[in-house]
Amino acid sequence: MNLKKFIREIPDYPTKGISFKDITTLLKDKNAFQVVVDEISNYFKEKQITKVVSLESRGFIVGGAVAYCLHAGFVPARKKGKLPVETIHESYELEYGTDTIEMHLDALNEDDVVLIHDDLLATGGTALAALKLVRQMNVKQIYFSFICDLKFIENGNKEILSNYEMHSLVEY
Ligand code: AMP
Repeated sequence: MNLKKFIREIPDYPTKGISFKDITTLLKDKNAFQVVVDEISNYFKEKQITKVVSLESRGFIVGGAVAYCLHAGFVPARKKGKLPVETIHESYELEYGTDTIEMHLDALNEDDVVLIHDDLLATGGTALAALKLVRQMNVKQIYFSFICDLKFIENGNKEILSNYEMHSLVEY
């Protein structure tokens, strides 16, 4: 299935020069949604993933479904101030603006094999922040999954991320 054709591209959103990849048009198609979840789950099915860490908020949708398919736990990495007990946090730069993500301190442990999932990899700032959080928990192994990878963006973040096994379905 050509998944790219299900993703709506909005020029100059939310700021001039950004081509926004809108996955809602993919998610609302029952077949495309199923293919995305199945393809990611199949790719990682032999990796003994114990927890899927997903990024608020678009990462939660497919991340949750993949966690279910892999019979793994689900861990939300949330925007600052949303989690109720002790957290660790990391700030990062977005393709547009800056942000902070947090995870519960007790979310992961040394026995975990972690899949970090988000809808889209752009500058890699968000994924790198998630990596820094997950690494603090001394987990066994870390993998990455994205629906979209903006391959044309090359930088130091992506160089660091390239040390980890990464899977994506749609490239730009
Ligand atoms: P980055 O940290 O630059 O890799 O940006 C990734 C995060 O920002 C993801 O959580 C995306 O949802 C969002 N994002 C960044 N750029 C875009 C874009 N061009 N289209 C859609 N979402 C984007």
